[in-house]
Amino acid sequence: MKKPAPTALATHATVIAAHGRHYLAQLDGELLHCVTRGKKSDLAVGDKVAVKSTGPGQAVIEAVAGRQTLLFRSDQYKSKLLAANATQLFIVVATEPSFADDLVSRSLVAAEAAGIQAHLVLNKVDVTEALPQTRNRLQLYASLGYPVHEVSAMNMPEATRALLAPLLEGHTTVFIGQSGMGKSSLINVLVPGAEIATREISAALDTGKHTTTFTRLYRIDDHTAVVDSPGFQEFGLYHLTEGMLERAFRDFVPFLGHCRFYNCHHLSEPGCAILHEVEKGRISRMRQRLYAQLVHESSQKLY
Ligand code: ZN
Repeated sequence: MKKPAPTALATHATVIAAHGRHYLAQLDGELLHCVTRGKKSDLAVGDKVAVKSTGPGQAVIEAVAGRQTLLFRSDQYKSKLLAANATQLFIVVATEPSFADDLVSRSLVAAEAAGIQAHLVLNKVDVTEALPQTRNRLQLYASLGYPVHEVSAMNMPEATRALLAPLLEGHTTVFIGQSGMGKSSLINVLVPGAEIATREISAALDTGKHTTTFTRLYRIDDHTAVVDSPGFQEFGLYHLTEGMLERAFRDFVPFLGHCRFYNCHHLSEPGCAILHEVEKGRISRMRQRLYAQLVHESSQKLY
């Protein structure tokens, strides 16, 4: 028997995909094509919403529950919501093609600013020629306390699943990565039926062929979900203020408050505790340079 469409105001639907002002919400396993009231369009995948049925498979979003966390990117002009209520961020990198430290560090800064635990997943470890050098590069992040997991989604799917699946349990985990890192293969290993679900979501949102250009949430069980976001080549953080940025660099935190000037920008000031640590080789110069770049971007924001 076909399940009747929900009639009362239900408060526990979850937004699982967004495309423009069209949202797809999941309620008790059923997909609802939703619109918002008025011009409201600041919902994110992972938002808990109250919906009211407007027809079979259709609903209007009446209210949004308070968010535990909110992960976002931004450019000079506006912020772009990535996911709401996520508890973990898994950053996928690979032995080849090579990954950009800039993007990894920006992702880590976004996670820190959102209060989300970040992990790194090194994919394609079967490409043994590139492995030692890649491990070397990831040592920096491991030394900062970010867990690094080595997998090969393509060639060792069972081992990959055995390693990562327990880490996902009870969490809403966002997977992000540069294009080419093999994130889609990884999602397919970890989420049974991901490709079918994506086709359904794409059809429901009428996104045509652009099946990988939108963020979507896959529910694995009542307490576990995986969010897949499109591969990216840039990660803007214009929305973060200088104060938020310095605290989002885990390596800076022990030295904050130790600079000669209380309002030190950690750029070129005399007596800067951060720059002193960089000179001594205890903070990576790459990280301090990225910090300076992000402070610059933050000052260029136009909203
Ligand atoms: Zn300083």
